Amino acid sequence: MVTDTTYPASNLTGRILNHANQHHYAVGAYNCYNNDGVVAVIRAAERKRSPAIIQLFPWTMHFQGSQFIRYVVNAAHAASIPIAVHLDHCIKPDDVDLALTLPFDSIMVDASALDDDANVRYCKAVVDRARAGNITIEAEMGRIEGGEDGLPTVDMGAIMTHPKSVEAFVPRTGVHFLAPSFGNIHGGYLAGGAENAWDLERLAAIGHLVSTTTPLALHGTYPVSDELFQKAIACGVRKINLNRTVRDDYSESVASNARSLELTQLKSQAVEVYARSIERMMDVLGSSQRY
Ligand SMILES: [Zn+2]
Repeated sequence: MVTDTTYPASNLTGRILNHANQHHYAVGAYNCYNNDGVVAVIRAAERKRSPAIIQLFPWTMHFQGSQFIRYVVNAAHAASIPIAVHLDHCIKPDDVDLALTLPFDSIMVDASALDDDANVRYCKAVVDRARAGNITIEAEMGRIEGGEDGLPTVDMGAIMTHPKSVEAFVPRTGVHFLAPSFGNIHGGYLAGGAENAWDLERLAAIGHLVSTTTPLALHGTYPVSDELFQKAIACGVRKINLNRTVRDDYSESVASNARSLELTQLKSQAVEVYARSIERMMDVLGSSQRY
C-alpha cells in the first residue's frame, strides 16, 4: 500500500492536466495501437516542448500484453517532456482489475451503461482502489454514443450529461477527470458535423461547475475543426482524445508505400508523417512550448 499523502497531486496525468487548467490550454491524448504511435507522440512532444498523453485501449493490454504496457510507460516517462500513459474506455471489471496491476498513470472507467447510482458506486470503488497505485481516474457521465475500437455501438438515443448532476457526481465518486456527454459521439458525425451536434452551452455549464478542480476530457473528436476545438477549450476541456485525426496520414503513408519501401524506410517515413500530424494538433490545442 502506497502511503502517498500528496495523491492525486503527485500523479503525472493530474499534473499535466492541472498545468493545462492553470494556463487555459488542452493536452492531446493520442490513441496509440503500436510502437509507431508511441515513437511519434514522444518525438512530437519533445520537438514541440508539449506535454502529451499516450492513450491505449484495453485491446492493447490483451493483444500485446503487459510487457508492452510497461515498455510504453517506460518510454513515455523517459522523455524530456511530461508524457503520461492512460487507459481509455475500460469497460469490463476484469480489465479494471488487470489495469490496476500495471503502471498506468490514469484509467478511464467507462460504466456509462450502468444507471446513475450504480455508476457512482462503481466509480467510487475504483477510485478507492486506484489510490494505492497512484493512478487517477477519468469517468464518463451520461453516455457518449457511437462505436470506437472495442466499444459497443448502441442504438438508443444519446443521453447527455445534466450539469446539475455533475456537481453531485464528482464529490460522490472522487473521480479526477470527467468526460461529459453533450452531443459528442464516437466514430464520426452525421450531416452538419460536430458543429451541429455539440451543445456547447451545456459543455460550458458543466465546465463552469467543475472544471477548475476536475479537468474535462473530450471524446468524439473525428472530425472536428480547429475552431471548434478551441471553443471546447474555452469551456474548460483540458484533455482532448485524438485518434484518426492524427493517424489517417500515417495510415495513408503505410498503405501507399508498403510495396515499394523496405520496412525500415517505410516505418521511418510513416512515423515522421505521424509525428507531424501530432505536432500540428499540439499547436491547435495550445500545448506547444509549455515546458
Ligand atoms: Zn471515447
